Amino acid sequence: MKESLSQNSAIYLDAVTKVYPTAKGDFYAVREVSLDVQPGEFYSLLGSSGSGKTTTLRLIGGFEIPEYGEVYIGGEVVTESRPFQRNVHTVFQDYALFPHLTVAENVAYPLTVAGVNRSDIAPRLQEALKLVQIPDLGDRRPSQLSGGQRQRVALARALINRPQVLLLDEPLSALDAQIREAVRQELRQLQRQTGITFVYVTHDQEEALALSDRIAVMHSGRVEQVGPPSEIYENPASLFVAQFIGQANFLTGAVVAAAGAATPTVTVAVNGRLIQAIALNHDVPVVGATATLMIRPERISLSASPADNQVGGKIVDVTYIGQRVESLIDTPVGLMKVVQLCRSPAIGESVTLGWQRDRCILLPGFADPTLSPK
Ligand code: ADP
Ligand code: MG
Repeated sequence: MKESLSQNSAIYLDAVTKVYPTAKGDFYAVREVSLDVQPGEFYSLLGSSGSGKTTTLRLIGGFEIPEYGEVYIGGEVVTESRPFQRNVHTVFQDYALFPHLTVAENVAYPLTVAGVNRSDIAPRLQEALKLVQIPDLGDRRPSQLSGGQRQRVALARALINRPQVLLLDEPLSALDAQIREAVRQELRQLQRQTGITFVYVTHDQEEALALSDRIAVMHSGRVEQVGPPSEIYENPASLFVAQFIGQANFLTGAVVAAAGAATPTVTVAVNGRLIQAIALNHDVPVVGATATLMIRPERISLSASPADNQVGGKIVDVTYIGQRVESLIDTPVGLMKVVQLCRSPAIGESVTLGWQRDRCILLPGFADPTLSPK
């Protein structure tokens, strides 16, 4: 299994660990991270600050060498080879442009240092500038560009060498929200158009969900879950992932019954109410065990039509967010958040909340109460 993965993957990390010596002893920035990135894939490393994303990217790029584990690029072991010996290009967070060079000189730089002929450089330079939609800015200097334009220059410089793999470390974080969303779409198109494998680091879950074929969620130097965006969102493998991605309601109670084979149905008593859930990603808990249930706010209906789970409640707060309406509802199982598209309930109104058991995901462990809806 391992052999074929390392052979067919664009990138394959096999139990890679990076340890930094610090005054307080060894610090494990990345712990036994294994992942496979397929050729042509848009693969994101998503996690909060300090979770080990940049270190993982630097291990792939060759800027760090792991204490344990192996790094494969294109089926070859590159664990200890230098950055320039790897067919990857890194776009750093701050773009790292040369201020004294023009845009054209910046973009052509990798070809210039490689000794490529001037006449061969010109068409590739134009192609790269066109690809990132700044064909006319070649004569400017970085100081004469907007943040979005600088980002494009950094991308063009990365693309001019036609790398198999592009490593991008929070490339949009320096842009303001509106531009970020526009550039985000272009980046996705660019990736599809060129077929280059992207490994994309971000702390922004929305960005990761919108862009990625697959996401690896990182936490404390480990990979918590790998999957397509919809799977990460709908079927989080752990409480951490459920809390980190999107909004969710968490209910905690004791398991009173567990049955079924493929997707076992579990009944949990929450404040004396029996709630039905399914255990998707892990073993069925024993009767009497404590369990946490997760329900996404948009999976709860207020229509009073039949549902596996129903509780009554009273609306305590309503927030309008453009097309959506968020309601906080006081119920016997606790405060619940519900998101709807159209109905606008009034504060004080009595409602019935309903949700299906296959939208009620049982997770191991306790929810962090500070992350419950307020
Ligand atoms: P992220 O990119 O997810 O924010 P990093 O990979 O940059 O996280 O860092 C992961 C952890 O490793 C952080 O706690 C960071 O402080 C630590 N770290 C990173 N580089 C070094 C270093 N050179 N020496 C010591 N600790 C480091
Ligand atoms: Mg980082």
